Amino acid sequence: AQREVPTAAAEDETVHEVVVVGSGPAGYTAAIYTARANLKPVVFAGSVTAGGELMNTTEVENYPGFVEGIMGPELMANMQQQAERFGADIRYEDVVAADLEGEIKTLTLEDGSVHRARAVIVATGSAYRELGLPDEKRLSGHGVSWCATCDGFFFKEQHIAVVGGGDSAIEEATFLTKFASKVTIIHRREAFRASEIMQQRAFDDPKIEILWNSEVVGINGADKVESLVLRDTVTKETSELAVTGLFVAIGSDPRTDLVKDQLELTADGTIAVDGRSSTTSLAGVFAAGDVVDPTYRQAITAAGSGCVAAVDVEHYLAALD
Ligand code: FAD
Repeated sequence: AQREVPTAAAEDETVHEVVVVGSGPAGYTAAIYTARANLKPVVFAGSVTAGGELMNTTEVENYPGFVEGIMGPELMANMQQQAERFGADIRYEDVVAADLEGEIKTLTLEDGSVHRARAVIVATGSAYRELGLPDEKRLSGHGVSWCATCDGFFFKEQHIAVVGGGDSAIEEATFLTKFASKVTIIHRREAFRASEIMQQRAFDDPKIEILWNSEVVGINGADKVESLVLRDTVTKETSELAVTGLFVAIGSDPRTDLVKDQLELTADGTIAVDGRSSTTSLAGVFAAGDVVDPTYRQAITAAGSGCVAAVDVEHYLAALD
C-alpha cells in the first residue's frame, strides 16, 4: 500500500512502494509482477519512446506464446494492458533526474514534479547505434535490422550485408550464414577490431565476403531494402550493392544517463548487478533488461529480468517492514 506522509502537500509527498523507469519488456513485466504483489507500481514509461525497442520492429517470431508471431507494437500494447489490468499506474513521461541514495528515492520529471518511492526499478534499455542515414528508420523491420538472432530467419537464401568491424559484427555475420546465401561485411577501415579468432572464422567462411574501406551512405528500396550505396573511404568512389537485408552491428549504448553517477557500472557500460539478481550497488535500487545485459538482449530475457527485479523488490520491502 502507498504511504501518505501527513503534510499540506500530501499528494506530492506520496511515497510509492515502487517506481519503474522504462516501459519495454523489462519495465512492463516488472509492473505486472509488482502490481500483482499489490505494490501499486507507478511506471514512468517515457514520453515519445514508450513501449521500448520493439515499437520499432514488425514481426516478433521468437517471443514464446505466439504461435504465428506477433507485431512488436502489439506485443507491447498487450504488456501495457496486462500491467494496467492489475492496477499499474502508467505515466507517459520521462524521468530527467534521480536521487537514489537514502531510504526514500526521488525522481524528477521534465515538468519539475518530484516523485518519491521506497524502491526503484531501472529498466531504461539500451540503444543500438544507428548509421544515421535518412532511410534507415523508414526501412527498419523491412530489411534493416539490429539483431541477427531476431531477424536472421527472415533472410533465407538471400544476400545480406552486415556493417561493423567488432566482435559482435563478425558474430552476427557468421550466424547469418546459416540462413543467407551470401553475407557481405562492410567495414570502413582496412582491418577488423574483432579478436583474431573471430576474424579467422569470417575469413574461412566461404559464404562471407568482406568489403574493406567501405561505408554505407545510402539505403535504396520503396517498401523493403533493395540495395545499398557504398562509398570507398580511400578513393571516395561510390558503388551500389544489391542486397535484401542490412544488419547494423556498430555497437549499442546502455541508457544509464539518469543513474551513472550514482550506480556502479560494468566495463561494458551496463548497470552492475549482483549475480543473477537485479540488486545494484545502492540499496532499494534494482535494474533489469538490456540496461544490465551486454550479451543476450532479447525481449524474453528482458522480460525475465523484469520479473527478477519485481521479486527482488518484494523481498527488499518485506524485509524492511
Ligand atoms: P527497451 O525495450 O529498450 O525499453 C526501454 C524503455 O525505457 C523505453 O520504454 C524507454 O522509453 C524507457 N526509458 C529510457 N529512459 C527513460 C527515462 N529517463 N524516463 C522514462 N523512460 C525511459 N528481441 C526479441 O526478442 N525479438 C525480436 O524480434 C526483436 N526484434 C528487435 C528489433 C529491433 C529493431 C530492435 C531495435 C530490437 C529488437 N529486439 C528483439 C530486442 C528487444 O527489443 C530488446 O532486447 C528489448 O526491447 C529490451 O527490453 P528493455 O525493457 O530492457 O528495454
